[in-house]
Amino acid sequence: MTLFRKNLIDGEWLGEAGSRNINPSNTGDVVGEYASAGPEQAKQAIAAAKAAFPAWSRSAPLARHAVLKKASDEIMARKDEIGRNLAREEGKTLAEGIGETIRAAQLFDFFAGETLRLSGELVPSVRPGVGVEITREAVGVVGIITPWNFPIAIPAWKIAPALAYGNTIVFKPAELVPESAWTIVDILHRAGLPKGVLNLVMGKGSVVGQAMLDSPDVNAITFTGSVGTGKRVAAASVEHMRKFQLEMGGKNPLVVLDDADLAVAVDCAINGAYFSTGQRCTASSRLVVTEGIHDRFVAALKERMEKLVVGDALDARTQIGPVVDATQLKQDEDYIAIGRNEGAELAFGGERLDGATPGFYLTPALFTGATNAMRISREEIFGPVANVIRVKDYDEALAVANDTPFGLTSGICTSSLKHATHFKRNSEAGMVMVNLPTAGVDFHVPFGGRKGSSYGPREQGRYATEFYTTVKTAYTFAG
Ligand code: NAD
Repeated sequence: MTLFRKNLIDGEWLGEAGSRNINPSNTGDVVGEYASAGPEQAKQAIAAAKAAFPAWSRSAPLARHAVLKKASDEIMARKDEIGRNLAREEGKTLAEGIGETIRAAQLFDFFAGETLRLSGELVPSVRPGVGVEITREAVGVVGIITPWNFPIAIPAWKIAPALAYGNTIVFKPAELVPESAWTIVDILHRAGLPKGVLNLVMGKGSVVGQAMLDSPDVNAITFTGSVGTGKRVAAASVEHMRKFQLEMGGKNPLVVLDDADLAVAVDCAINGAYFSTGQRCTASSRLVVTEGIHDRFVAALKERMEKLVVGDALDARTQIGPVVDATQLKQDEDYIAIGRNEGAELAFGGERLDGATPGFYLTPALFTGATNAMRISREEIFGPVANVIRVKDYDEALAVANDTPFGLTSGICTSSLKHATHFKRNSEAGMVMVNLPTAGVDFHVPFGGRKGSSYGPREQGRYATEFYTTVKTAYTFAG
């Protein structure tokens, strides 16, 4: 019998079967059927979150701590099962799915602790006898809109701080990955959240997401996804004068200098460009390589690429899972054709593969002879495709790295302290890596970018208070 998952609205599981969740490694495998909310259900969820806010925002920190800690413990205890379902619905490998699930557990654990650490300031006033208290309060109803590529970690890094600081939530996950979203909500619901505090509204972005954007009762929206949708979130939020935060695309450069350790540089490129099938906002899609190491780097990279095992995400031998769906596969292939037409040389891969089961398999693709002006170097492809851009020296590498509409992550492989330090200071990205892949970040420190990649306060770590709380300044005259 096919699994059927409902939406959670005001503490009740509701909804009719609406959409099917297909395994991209095997399109004959249906993960389950999922309710698809209409605008009325979205409005009910927003009303429920609004009604639940006064009590939840004034709840004792230890009550919030207990729910978050319990959720963390259950996610960790079930990491293999949840990670497997994640790999099954999204297509990243089993190891990546379990790793992402562990990260979600760590995020809930971190923010459980933060419930007890929210602090303010007490400062003297300029007026005698007056004291000034600066405190942080919950914002209200937070709308959470998430993409498909991190089905559990991104919901976790938004839901955990929102709840920790006393906000109530309307959560709209991406259509392609509802199982991970449902699981996290089910766990939190059973961990003891009062009704209405966390509402799950699965459904179409143009319906449920739009209803959230159009509601005057949603006080803040945190969004991760494409630039196009992000701009809609921004425009609607300005209209309602609400707080908003956007995490969007990337075109992240990995600079490889002549003095780099070749093995480290190749490891960084393989991991950053191709792991998770290149479907990471932090993926290294531009490999900016100086001419002294260029040929050796390309040869060593191709040698490693030949050995990469592309296949069913649930097969333990697989290193690169399938592309998430047919639309994304077409986008990847279209960009590969664009790159060739622009004059870049397809040095490796970029071909559809037949697996043992029908799925969206693509061999990782490497372009050489690319320029930074080509569309494949400027637009986010969001697949296992990377371009090598040959440059003369460090100065040109830095200029090319920064010449992009995006600014999420960047990386440099070098053994020069001078160049590493200069790059950290001058790279126009929110996160900079030295001798590390551009993808792969810690859960307890700020995450976010610059330029077209991000807008608003940083996510994660203690910096999350900037978005999920609002500051109050209170004056008291005590004589
Ligand atoms: P998307 O913009 O298509 O969808 C994101 C979410 O927005 C989905 O839940 C979708 O249903 C919803 N949505 C769509 N239309 C909407 C509307 N009119 N109103 C409200 N919500 C709407 O993005 P995607 O394809 O799911 O994700 C891929 C993108 O996400 C890539 O660009 C990637 O770089 C980006 N991403 C960024 C980060 C980051 O932190 N910077 C992390 C992961 C993914």
